[in-house]
Amino acid sequence: MSNYHIKHLEEYYQVYRKSIREPENFWAEIAEEHFLWRKKWDKVLEWDFTKPAIKWFQGAQLNITENCIDRHLGTRANKTAILFEPNNPDEPAQHITYKQLSERVNQFANVLKEQGVKKGDRVCIYVPMIPELAIATLACARIGAIHSVVFAGFSAAALFSRINDSDCKIVITSDGSFRGKKSIDLKGIVDEALEDCAGVKTVLVVKRINSDIHMKEGRDQWLQPLLDKASKECVAETMEAEDPLFILYTSGSTGKPKGMVHTTAGYMVYSAYTFKNAFQYQENDVYWCTADIGWITGHSYIVYGPLANGATTVLFEGVPSYPDFGRFWEIIQKHKVTQFYTAPTAIRALAKHGTELVDQYDLSTLKVLGSVGEPINEEAWHWYNDTIGKKKSPIIDTWWQTETGGIMITPIPYVTPTKPTYATLPFIGVQPALMDENGQELKGNQVEGRLCIKFPWPSMARTIWGNHQRYKETYFSAYENMYFTGDGALRDEVGYYRITGRVDDVIIVSGHNLGTAPIEDAINEHPAVAESAIVGFPHDIKGSALYGYVTLKDIGESRDHNNLRKEINQLITDRIGPIAKLDKIQFSEGLPKTRSGKIMRRILRKIASNEMDNLGDISTLLNPEVVENIIENKL
Ligand code: ATP
Ligand code: MG
Repeated sequence: MSNYHIKHLEEYYQVYRKSIREPENFWAEIAEEHFLWRKKWDKVLEWDFTKPAIKWFQGAQLNITENCIDRHLGTRANKTAILFEPNNPDEPAQHITYKQLSERVNQFANVLKEQGVKKGDRVCIYVPMIPELAIATLACARIGAIHSVVFAGFSAAALFSRINDSDCKIVITSDGSFRGKKSIDLKGIVDEALEDCAGVKTVLVVKRINSDIHMKEGRDQWLQPLLDKASKECVAETMEAEDPLFILYTSGSTGKPKGMVHTTAGYMVYSAYTFKNAFQYQENDVYWCTADIGWITGHSYIVYGPLANGATTVLFEGVPSYPDFGRFWEIIQKHKVTQFYTAPTAIRALAKHGTELVDQYDLSTLKVLGSVGEPINEEAWHWYNDTIGKKKSPIIDTWWQTETGGIMITPIPYVTPTKPTYATLPFIGVQPALMDENGQELKGNQVEGRLCIKFPWPSMARTIWGNHQRYKETYFSAYENMYFTGDGALRDEVGYYRITGRVDDVIIVSGHNLGTAPIEDAINEHPAVAESAIVGFPHDIKGSALYGYVTLKDIGESRDHNNLRKEINQLITDRIGPIAKLDKIQFSEGLPKTRSGKIMRRILRKIASNEMDNLGDISTLLNPEVVENIIENKL
């Protein structure tokens, strides 16, 4: 019997040891007993980090949609697979059963085939968070087309570069999208992006907002009439284990986005296994991840991981602030959500509005609270734990990346004792290493260094689309025989990991390496502070000095700024030491963020260093307007 579901800490350690000692046997057992294969593998793993070349389950044949849909039809045909909650709370929610999902995916797959899409072709999906987004994704997988989902909040330029980079043949979009009070003309953005994309011959348009859009003759087609004519049966394409399943671009926090390529079998096994354990998923749970399917979190933990486990997964079209900042809590109450997975940026934004809105709703169904995307600061962790979880739902701070395909370091709820700001222990099969600047591995506990992974795990990205050299240089060249994550981390006295921020953001002050997360954490403990970001700027004596950007809660805005500065530096001195005191503290209305809600320290660093004419492209930011404001008020 394999250990598909881990239930207590001793079992975790035992299974973890097995996964390290005999990784091939371990993963073969999980794969064999819990998934549907057309043909079993000949070899579990073949790898070489110097090339780099990684192959899992070679020789196996399968289709991931048979694992996510068909195999549930016997026992779960009428169970809700996708629970769609529209932007407008007055519009009824939709419960799409596994049977309906099967029919809709097959119809969509047949439409794609009719449009000439073949196995291996790239399909760009630029659709808002409506059921068709998940269905289009699965339809591609059904016929072996490689999906490239682009977050439907990106600009025409960002969309263009992604379509072009992976040479997509067809674009799936909608007439528009609803976001809070606004509606957005998505089709107009697609038209603009396609002006220079000669390769795209077909655009399929989902009707969502009923707006009057221009349809280009010979290229654009409404999807619904095509679906109506299509058969509800579609034989799934046979895929080899290492056939690409999708391309997904990283969020671009640190520079030009990379088109990560994920393949079929290993990705399926790892996303499903992590979902089951990290969320302790049980048959009648209602699971909700608030990410967009346009990010890896949505791929692995809205679509593939949950569906492979026959789960009910909530898909929310709207935003946390509409009609008011109680929307998330209203949805949890309405659908009796059991697992809730969101990002620190959302938690901080909601915490800023106090507890009044939270207290209006019944959140007693919650069992697990997840966090992903950035380090969760201590203040936000406690608010999440106390106000949302009522101290009874464990928080899983899940560290992972687009490149890793699935969760890598996380507590297992009800198994691993949690610790604020710590992602705690490696997941089963994951072998982290901390490296020093000279390329030596730091052994033992109470060490801090650069986070690497020593051994392949099934869902690691296999390459960067069209640029294997960049893949090698970015991830496998910093340290010999190691996957380098780009993040810094520390390991505490019991072996728990804490992510300290990106290595690129580490600041060297008078010879001391300072990670961003612990300092920001200390700042955020101040009751008047909502959010903060620190960066380095050149300093004659110290090499670098620290510049802090701080946004205040409503209660903080009326306070004397010089007093606040003193109090913040006092907190830093108490928590970390005087070495980490900030030379400058600027109060700003907001911080520049990526579309996925991450703070863009790269831009703040340039501003602090007076390199205003060299900010790079800021049009892809969530809130480009704050940049100007920050520049104007620079200290
Ligand atoms: P790019 O690679 O293009 O700069 P990105 O790194 O923001 O973009 P993602 O793959 O979405 O793109 O994000 C992964 C990164 O997010 C991690 O490397 C880490 O820096 C951060 N991260 C994710 N989850 C956590 C977490 N739980 N704790 C700390 N940091 C996290
Ligand atoms: Mg990254």
